Amino acid sequence: MAETPIPLEVRNIKKRFGDTEVLKGLSLSAHKGDVITLIGASGSGKSTFLRCMNLLEQPDEGELIVHGEEIRFRQTRRGREPADWKQVVRMRARLSMVFQGFNLWAHMTLLENIIEAPVHVLGKPKKAAIEQAQALLERVGLSHRADAYPAQMSGGQQQRGAIARALAMDPEVMLFDEPTSALDPELVGDVLKVMRELADEGRTMIVVTHEMGFARDVSSQVIYLHQGLVEEAGPPEQVLGNPQSPRLKQFLAPKY
Ligand code: ADP
Ligand code: MG
Repeated sequence: MAETPIPLEVRNIKKRFGDTEVLKGLSLSAHKGDVITLIGASGSGKSTFLRCMNLLEQPDEGELIVHGEEIRFRQTRRGREPADWKQVVRMRARLSMVFQGFNLWAHMTLLENIIEAPVHVLGKPKKAAIEQAQALLERVGLSHRADAYPAQMSGGQQQRGAIARALAMDPEVMLFDEPTSALDPELVGDVLKVMRELADEGRTMIVVTHEMGFARDVSSQVIYLHQGLVEEAGPPEQVLGNPQSPRLKQFLAPKY
């Protein structure tokens, strides 16, 4: 049997905004079932790194290999761009992103949100897409909210809906950018529970989070970023349980 390609490999990504280099050469490999958590102070480059992985930002340098397929770039007057946007569409179908908030389209019901990309991007028949959406809603505990509009749902329900929408594309890797940090504290647990279940069933995930309990329990690897560089990385027992860098020690110390 042929070896399955590594879902996502990122090599030596660099990114500058104006005069500031915010990513100074970052790499990671996400193998099947890996849960990689990115931690670090605000402004350390976590979101930019994640956004470079699915080309919401264009990295100035570095390589991106999705499911064994290397993304091709070309140099233009504006900077480096993907050489083939069809390739980007293909890679984005493999990498699904869940943001901090405002994920769902406001003018569509939850069910419509979930079937949109499967029907219009993947060309799935509508009936099959609806059946799949109903199963996903059940999984995230939202069967009763299929016909609700995002504004009628709590923040936690919206985030679980956003996760269901991401899952509807059956992505190879799920990218999460602080999915719980805009939520009221009492709504965080339901969202983390869904994410723990995804981790348990072997989903490959890259998660930016401040939820250290979650990071400790589910990560295969924790990466601590400082000013666009990896300051420390390894299994959670090591990085969170026995940090070496003074900065990381301070970052993890109880704040009050
Ligand atoms: P984090 O997610 O770790 O808080 P970010 O990746 O959002 O960090 O930001 C890293 C640095 O890049 C910050 O200094 C931020 O101000 C800067 N930055 C992020 N996006 C942009 C942008 N679009 N234009 C200019 N600077 C940006
Ligand atoms: Mg961020």
